[in-house]
Amino acid sequence: EQTEDAKTEAVPQKLPKGVVLGPDGKPCRTCTDVSSWFAMAKKETGKSTSIPATIPSDCPPDVQALGRSSWTLLHSITATYPEKPDGQLQTETRSFISAFSKLYPCWHCASDFQQWMKEDGNAPRVSSRQEFGRWMCEAHNAVNVKLGKQEFDCNKWEERWRTGWKD
Ligand code: FAD
Repeated sequence: EQTEDAKTEAVPQKLPKGVVLGPDGKPCRTCTDVSSWFAMAKKETGKSTSIPATIPSDCPPDVQALGRSSWTLLHSITATYPEKPDGQLQTETRSFISAFSKLYPCWHCASDFQQWMKEDGNAPRVSSRQEFGRWMCEAHNAVNVKLGKQEFDCNKWEERWRTGWKD
């Protein structure tokens, strides 16, 4: 049965390149970059909707804004993680990462992240702050590589996210 939302929000027939659909078959903003989103809006309305120079900060996040905020949270969690976490915290941390990878609001990002964690050597390493911080850096680098971005030097994860740069 169709929900009220599905009845009222028509899915555009021809989506501009880059617009990703969600599991409900409708365009998924948190899975799509803002330029593709604006291109779709332009197509739908016929109005010349160009991307504003600065996106208002109170708009829903696109895939990039969501990613930046999420990495900030994740790396900051590793930065404040104990050097010697007890067994219970390690178990809870693994559960958190597992739940995060299922709840992440960009479904294709979430699915790739889950796949990556299943590969040999990529299961979360949470036995110390150093281990966890490095593991998170490697997880982030896997996405960087996938997106064609430069890899980050994981020897520097702590300077970037905990201590600040040595200058
Ligand atoms: P970000 O990649 O968000 O990085 C923010 C800052 O972190 C950088 O400025 C740098 O200082 C630092 N940094 C960079 N790399 C590392 C590292 N390896 N270790 C420590 N610090 C680092 N986007 C997609 O388009 N497709 C996807 O499939 C996708 N999957 C994602 C999966 C997850 C789990 C998350 C959290 C995000 C995902 N994203 C994905 C978003 C993507 O990773 C970026 O956040 C987004 O493209 C914005 O990139 P950015 O260049 O602003 O910097």
